[in-house]
Amino acid sequence: MKILVINAGSSSLKYQLIDMETEAVMAKGLCERIGIDGHLKHTPLVGGKPVFNEDVPMPTHSEAIAAVIDKLTSAEYGVVGSMKEIDAVGHRVVHGGEKFASSVKIDDEVIAAIEECIPFAPLHNPANITGINACKAVMGDVPMVAVFDTAFHQTMPGKAYMYAVPYEYYKNDGIRRYGFHGTSHRYVSARCAELMGKPIEELKIVSCHMGNGSSIAAIDHGKCVDTSMGFTPLVGLPMGTRCGDLDAGVIQFIMNKYGYSIDEMLNILNKKSGVLGVSGVSSDFRDLDNAAAEGNDRARLALDMFQYWVAKVAGSYVAAMNGVDAIVFTAGVGENSKETRAAIAKYFGYLGVTIDEAANAKRGEDVMISTPDSKVKVFVIPTNEELVIARDTRDIVG
Ligand code: ADP
Repeated sequence: MKILVINAGSSSLKYQLIDMETEAVMAKGLCERIGIDGHLKHTPLVGGKPVFNEDVPMPTHSEAIAAVIDKLTSAEYGVVGSMKEIDAVGHRVVHGGEKFASSVKIDDEVIAAIEECIPFAPLHNPANITGINACKAVMGDVPMVAVFDTAFHQTMPGKAYMYAVPYEYYKNDGIRRYGFHGTSHRYVSARCAELMGKPIEELKIVSCHMGNGSSIAAIDHGKCVDTSMGFTPLVGLPMGTRCGDLDAGVIQFIMNKYGYSIDEMLNILNKKSGVLGVSGVSSDFRDLDNAAAEGNDRARLALDMFQYWVAKVAGSYVAAMNGVDAIVFTAGVGENSKETRAAIAKYFGYLGVTIDEAANAKRGEDVMISTPDSKVKVFVIPTNEELVIARDTRDIVG
């Protein structure tokens, strides 16, 4: 079975074609500038075919999907003989609200339900729906599955997902913590249990997804019981450009003083805050590491804040679960920055965590970075959301 995994954004579309016999990626790529002019980078990973990296007109997502199918099946760049060899399509969908606690086969009713969640994710869900409709237009009745970023967190209890605001806002408007990166937290926690050789139902895991966007999840006996992102991905840890947790009074103060509209304010909190805002250097942790090494105090402060917040939130989840068996690091920073991992792990001394420096220096593989006698195990597990989407699609489509 071959499954096409699609992650559609408003002007971009990422894809992978995965062979489910081996779970190998046959080809991957990225369409950019959809609706502007259009560019496709297509990378075949089997058969020794060359990379295609050229402008292709893409007035809409339909032309983007058509270009992807064209390349996947072409003699020069292709990895399959025809579109018929693609058995199903799995779509990443950002927000499933309270409707979707797991992945689901896409039909008109599901599309309508994803549309109903648009107010919760006004930028992402419309793009995801556009991707689904474009696939329908180009690929006909190939079975499709929606995999939601929020679904894994639907097991959180009310005490974790409720905000302490008047209850009507939850009841009438769905205002609550939803959480994001669920597909990643699900993948790495399951993989962590595999690496520990224990059923996930016997483990307490804290999963730290640290990329440009970052979130932590508490996974108690296989079920998410808390996570740091909320109604939107703005909160929790300070991130590349997002502020993380913030006193709402600060918003009122800044808006009043500088005469900002709420949209201008949110733009600042989403795009100009986080480690970028504090450091004034960059949202990229590599730049911050370099700047801090050259003596830039604000870069150092931004890194210290990030590490402190990861430790603080992770620690609160150890309390929430009354213990922890394993801590997992994943995503861009979690997978690549041994300094960040080591600095965070220092805060976990009270848990009996000790880090094996040689293991922590490894990259690009699943690795236990704690010493064999460490009371709590610490892992680096490269995330693989596309594989989860492909597996769910296979399981649902049969
Ligand atoms: P996204 O949230 O966009 O999916 P990623 O998970 O790809 O983000 O993470 C991107 C971030 O990973 C970059 O902003 C960069 O700061 C960080 N990163 C990548 N490589 C390294 C590295 N070697 N050291 C520190 N940070 C890194």
